[in-house]
Amino acid sequence: MNTTEELKTGKFKPEFAGQLNFYLSAIDDKLCHSSDNPTIGLLLCKNKNKLVAEYALKDVSKPIGVSEYKIMKSIPANLKTSLPTIEELEKHIPAACEVCGLLFLPGDLGESREHLDVHNRWVSATNFLKYSPTHHQERESIKREGHVILQSNGSLEKRIQGAMMVLRAWFDRSLEASIAGSFWKKHPKFDNYVAMILSHKDLSFSGDVLKYLKNKFGINPGQIPDGQSYWKTTY
Ligand SMILES: [Zn+2]
Repeated sequence: MNTTEELKTGKFKPEFAGQLNFYLSAIDDKLCHSSDNPTIGLLLCKNKNKLVAEYALKDVSKPIGVSEYKIMKSIPANLKTSLPTIEELEKHIPAACEVCGLLFLPGDLGESREHLDVHNRWVSATNFLKYSPTHHQERESIKREGHVILQSNGSLEKRIQGAMMVLRAWFDRSLEASIAGSFWKKHPKFDNYVAMILSHKDLSFSGDVLKYLKNKFGINPGQIPDGQSYWKTTY
């Protein structure tokens, strides 16, 4: 039997089970012999400010798809000896501070000086900016989705939307780093940041999307080195 993990933020959504299904099928194909039990998935979902674990057990009687996994709160009795309980697992799952996004093990770093430093810096920066960058997990999923849309055959409008998702994720990551490094007051605003990125030669955006964006935001070369998306502090 195998276990696999899938970490997600936000409430549980059916497509998470679909994605998990993909991973599990791949694992079943690669690692399992036909005599093995089906792979058991472990879904880690964000619930308020805490990640919760759920076992997802492949239900072989259902057709392939989301319904292939039964999401369960507890493990079936016949599997209990070989798997940790959900409660045991949750003790080892880092939780992210809902505000500043810092990851820590529950009851460990939560009250620490390190977290308070990061947290206070985050709060004063985002209050001042009246903007909160998205945190890592959400940002990565926005970026992935944006890349998929960019590479699709969708309309120009749709692909511009995809490019904006990618740019927003890059901007948020760069701004987050500037907050962590205490130089956020110098960080460019979104429109200016995009103009800096648009001067890059190696952008994977298609010609019509680039043309539209350059028209809208202009270009500002030499501010962020080619191939990078972090705005630097040294200027
Ligand atoms: Zn915090």
